[in-house]
Amino acid sequence: MDLGVGNTYLEVDLKKIKANLMKIKDHIGKDCEAMPVLKANAAGMGLEEMGLFIAGECGVKTIAVAQVFEAVRLREAGVDCKILVMGGVPYDNVPAAVEYGIQMPVFNREFATLVDKEANKQGKKSKLHIKIETGMNRIGVKPGEDLDGLVDCLKGLDGIEITGIYTHLVESQAVDKSFSYRQFDLFKGALAQLKGRGISPKYIHVCNSAATVWFNEAYFTHVRPGRLVYGMDPNADVNNRWGLEFPVTWHAFVTNLKEIEAGETVGYNRYFKADRHMRVATLSFGYGDGYNRNLVLKGGHVIINGKRAPFLDMCMDQSFVDVTAIEDVKMNNRAVLLGRDGEEEISLLDFSKLLGEGYMNAMATIGERVRRIYKGMGAHRC
Ligand SMILES: *Cc1c(COP(=O)(O)O)cnc(C)c1O
Repeated sequence: MDLGVGNTYLEVDLKKIKANLMKIKDHIGKDCEAMPVLKANAAGMGLEEMGLFIAGECGVKTIAVAQVFEAVRLREAGVDCKILVMGGVPYDNVPAAVEYGIQMPVFNREFATLVDKEANKQGKKSKLHIKIETGMNRIGVKPGEDLDGLVDCLKGLDGIEITGIYTHLVESQAVDKSFSYRQFDLFKGALAQLKGRGISPKYIHVCNSAATVWFNEAYFTHVRPGRLVYGMDPNADVNNRWGLEFPVTWHAFVTNLKEIEAGETVGYNRYFKADRHMRVATLSFGYGDGYNRNLVLKGGHVIINGKRAPFLDMCMDQSFVDVTAIEDVKMNNRAVLLGRDGEEEISLLDFSKLLGEGYMNAMATIGERVRRIYKGMGAHRC
């Protein structure tokens, strides 16, 4: 049975994803490749579908994710391009990573030895990227003595191939670029050190989204843009200079319409009290869909028929909005929670500002129950 779009759905326009990718490609030129970052369910847009689309129809050769679990989900969906896990890997995940040919970071001997043992056990060679610590202090090995020690260890491990070297910039979106340059210099030092030890990895990558936009000297062989692919340029100085497009509209439906009088209440614990005659619409989504109820408390709204409808309250699966001022609202009308409807728009920036979160955070928490519907080229699954 086809449920159509369900109670609430995100519509993702794949043409915009591809257009954003092409803008990145044009900018970085032929000698550098983009390795899109699909972590956090591809910023809420659907990990598997996005992976299949960008690898299958946008010419992407390598995808980056945060966890082995995400990488395995991509493999099981049929994504057969190269996959790099960027974050620290719990030891339990190593056998699956080796089996599925998933590349991982390496920055200490214990992990290197563990992966080598597993690769030998499975009769495979595991491809690893050396993560260099340049200022984030999250994962990575410091250039100099520590890196030398790691190289000594790696040289003796035949189950491992050093395929890449990378680092991560901590404030590349800032107007002041000085710390980015400091990290860049440290990284170049590490590269020279590796070269001196006879190691020249095929993948050399530093730039996240913000840096991809301005840090041409740091392109090396690959860049790792996440947010740019999703139409968001995090740079603080010039915002969205490439004209990237946000591909998402989030919808729900009007499931009931009613008139209430002054003194009547709406929701659990009589949360909203009417002080006048009002028209109230019940909508088909709630905080169980990952919509943050704080948006109700902070005066958020949805768009119905191109007009703003302020929240009155929200339950787990249903919510209430004031439609007194909107003419012609009918049962089963669509409400837009995020995105554009006619003249009105709830931009991701406004949405996340009201929420008090970064915009990736706002996208990453959209619930699993929200269906993802793909529009445009190559869409083959709802
Ligand atoms: C998340 C992440 C990225 C992508 O970040 P954006 O700013 O969205 O481009 C790149 N590299 C690493 C290591 C990351 O953790």
